[in-house]
Amino acid sequence: MFNIKSIRADFPILQRQVNGKPLVYLDNAATSQKPQVVIDAIVDYYSNYNANIHRGVHALSQEATDKYEAARQKIQHHFSIAKAHEVIFTSGTTQGINLVANGFASLLKKGDEVLVSALEHHSNIVPWQMLCEKTGAKLLVIPMTEEGTLHMEAYSEMLSEKTKLVFVNHISNALGTINPIDEIIFKAHQVDAAVLVDGAQACSHVKPDLKELDVDFYVTSAHKMCGPTGVGILYGKEAWLKKLPPYQGGGEMIAEVTFEKTTYADLPHKFEAGTPNICGGIAFGTAIDYLNHIGFENISVHEQELLEYATEELSKILGLKIYGTGTEKTSVISFNLENIHPYDVGTILDKLGIAVRTGHHCAQPIMEYFKIPGTVRASFAFYNTKEEVDLLIAGVKKAKQMLS
Ligand SMILES: *Cc1c(COP(=O)(O)O)cnc(C)c1O
Repeated sequence: MFNIKSIRADFPILQRQVNGKPLVYLDNAATSQKPQVVIDAIVDYYSNYNANIHRGVHALSQEATDKYEAARQKIQHHFSIAKAHEVIFTSGTTQGINLVANGFASLLKKGDEVLVSALEHHSNIVPWQMLCEKTGAKLLVIPMTEEGTLHMEAYSEMLSEKTKLVFVNHISNALGTINPIDEIIFKAHQVDAAVLVDGAQACSHVKPDLKELDVDFYVTSAHKMCGPTGVGILYGKEAWLKKLPPYQGGGEMIAEVTFEKTTYADLPHKFEAGTPNICGGIAFGTAIDYLNHIGFENISVHEQELLEYATEELSKILGLKIYGTGTEKTSVISFNLENIHPYDVGTILDKLGIAVRTGHHCAQPIMEYFKIPGTVRASFAFYNTKEEVDLLIAGVKKAKQMLS
């Protein structure tokens, strides 16, 4: 059962005060807070079985290796991935995208086209620009609408036999828009283009079935789903992962090394050079268990309630404009008060103990589209409450009064 009080008790940080006020943490789109079980998993590793993996014959190394590989399998099952070696541990979404972009440098040529959505995070724009500069392929942008949704007709028209790759996020971190990735993937495959989905913003809200989606690559970060920073995964279809060259050279990723020639290790190790974030991977598994224990259905119902309530109450404030008004949305609200800089609103909210994000949210093209310097972004997690939404509304009203 969904008991908000006992859920909140799982998160030590939610008990603290900021500027003399109880913390109201509404910056979940930037990173989530961590439950005690995840913190314990990290402490347990360093306290009880800290050792390097895949190398030693000794007991601690075996134990660490078993737990790390068990986490990989947990992640595999969570995302309905066919094979454990299709799960590549990375340092996060950004690294996963760079790994794929780097690999495609040898597969693209001049005249090829790469489609990227107008709703992307900078980490899903810049690596592709670098790739296109290197290969001479052309980067085309799928336009967005006033509601902050993707223009799907334009997308269909842009696809052709020249299209080799499509990159799109599952959920926009700046606006909360849920993109129709099933349709995007289906259409791309009709012209034999591969699709990479950036799931960094999605996986704390939904549980994607990657087999059913038939996506070619899917990347995400643990830290937005109650796990630690510095770890994430790249899922890739086996055929693609075999085709792509290694990303970084080093230990772990080789089969045999001589000065004449090195042969690479099998998947997944081919892409996992060096000592990984061992306790991060293990604690990522713990975070996934924790989220499944709460239940994604419960999470969705609660977050949608918060989203609806907050949208309704914020909309009542005169001069307040919400950006991102599509029907398919998750619990992210980007807004501005007329003639008031978002930074000033954020500063006043902080004084009241309310943590929101202000700025361009690593998505400057979206801000440019709306011709604004940035927004105030409140993003809710399953551990937020209606009372916290009320505090936000009161805080925004106070900011408006003080600043206008
Ligand atoms: C957070 C985020 C990223 C970047 O994730 P990192 O963990 O910083 O690599 C990329 N895309 C989206 C949509 C995000 O929300």
